[in-house]
Amino acid sequence: MELVKAEFCTGCGACVKACPKSAIHYVTDKEGFPVPEIRTDKCINCGICTQVCPAVSKPETHEIRQAYAAQMLDRETLKESTSGGLFTVFAREIFHRGGVVYGCVWDDEYNAVVRKAENEDEIKSMRGSKYVWSYAADCFPEVKQLLNEGRIVMFTGLPCQVAGLKNYLRKDYDNLYLVDFFCGGAPSPYAFHEYLKTITTDIPLDQLDFKLRDKSKYGVGVNISYNSPSGRVHQSYVRNPYFFSYHTKVFHRRCCYHCQYRYEQRAEDITIGDYWGVAKYHNEFDVRAGVSALLINSEKSAELLESVRKNLQLSPTRLQDIAEYNNLTLEDEKREFPLSPFRDAFFETLRTKGWTAAERKYLYNKIRLKLWLKTKIPTKYRELIKKTIKRN
Ligand SMILES: Cc1cc2nc3c(=O)[nH]c(=O)nc-3n(C[C@H](O)[C@H](O)[C@H](O)COP(=O)(O)OP(=O)(O)OC[C@H]3O[C@@H](n4cnc5c(N)ncnc54)[C@H](O)[C@@H]3O)c2cc1C
Repeated sequence: MELVKAEFCTGCGACVKACPKSAIHYVTDKEGFPVPEIRTDKCINCGICTQVCPAVSKPETHEIRQAYAAQMLDRETLKESTSGGLFTVFAREIFHRGGVVYGCVWDDEYNAVVRKAENEDEIKSMRGSKYVWSYAADCFPEVKQLLNEGRIVMFTGLPCQVAGLKNYLRKDYDNLYLVDFFCGGAPSPYAFHEYLKTITTDIPLDQLDFKLRDKSKYGVGVNISYNSPSGRVHQSYVRNPYFFSYHTKVFHRRCCYHCQYRYEQRAEDITIGDYWGVAKYHNEFDVRAGVSALLINSEKSAELLESVRKNLQLSPTRLQDIAEYNNLTLEDEKREFPLSPFRDAFFETLRTKGWTAAERKYLYNKIRLKLWLKTKIPTKYRELIKKTIKRN
């Protein structure tokens, strides 16, 4: 039995955790995404699963109150952070107030999982964006318990995970800070692991130290690095097959193509993203070190920002300027990304022949050809070719 159409399910797990009869569990679909499945023999039709499902019941949203360009002043930690280091700035304040922080780490098998941190040491492994769908729901009952005990909790996650948690909790808590990111989509964990196999033939997984956003060699940007027997490998996203595929959006979760959470109305108190294109509007920052776009969406997050202001370089900015190059969509803009025409064939080849064959056949060759056509053929001829292809 299906709770919501597969293309809308975000896999947040709110239904799994909220079901009073434990009648819902995760199964893995053929693209490697966990999806909820209802056991009809246990289901009592109480409807709680649909009430908490963010794909069915969108949680209450806030309007964005303030937008900033921001960078943490602690230069050492900034180097380890993906963009402007705001996650750590807010997390430190939460610890200072006696609270706990939830964020995403790699587990021993390179699954991205959301876990709890009680101190500065435990957030180190949360830094660094892990561009893969992550497991968050196991934390939900613990978050609820801590909130009910009066602890301050900061939960960071993908916008759909935060929406799932908000629905699962089913009430507002003054001691809860919800933080999400601009999100370009969550790829299949299965595809990610198939890719990892190609770089771990000569090195054990526990020595890989895989980073999808490494600033150490080229500054901020999309630079991948990992250990190999011949030393540390550094690759730009165009050279790295996994990240290149991420940009082509061939293997994201199906809900990402019509994501409801990338608009101005946010379910969270705080939203953070890379501020790509920041130099065009703000020349006061060291752009190479990484600058974040920061959206303050509630009164309590405005108060939190006041407490951490001394740790930040902060400039007010405009939403339109952030939206120009980032995954924040203004309400009146286009809503959907097209599914890649190669998607099904890509997953089929991945299952039967592995990453390298799928990459050769569906990623590099076809997409490179597209890029080549884009740069070599003038626009008017490209339009003509497109029309001819469509007609046939
Ligand atoms: C899958 C994904 C897609 C993203 N897409 C965009 C985008 O298109 N445009 C954009 O501007 N920004 C995007 N971001 C956000 C951006 O990469 C940075 O995470 C953000 O700017 C925070 O910067 P920071 O310096 O504070 O992060 P850091 O200090 O490096 O902290 C990283 C934060 O991300 C969280 N995190 C990492 N991986 C995951 C994951 N898989 N699931 C849930 N939480 C995770 C960590 O818990 C931590 O809170 C994306 C992040 C992720 C995880």
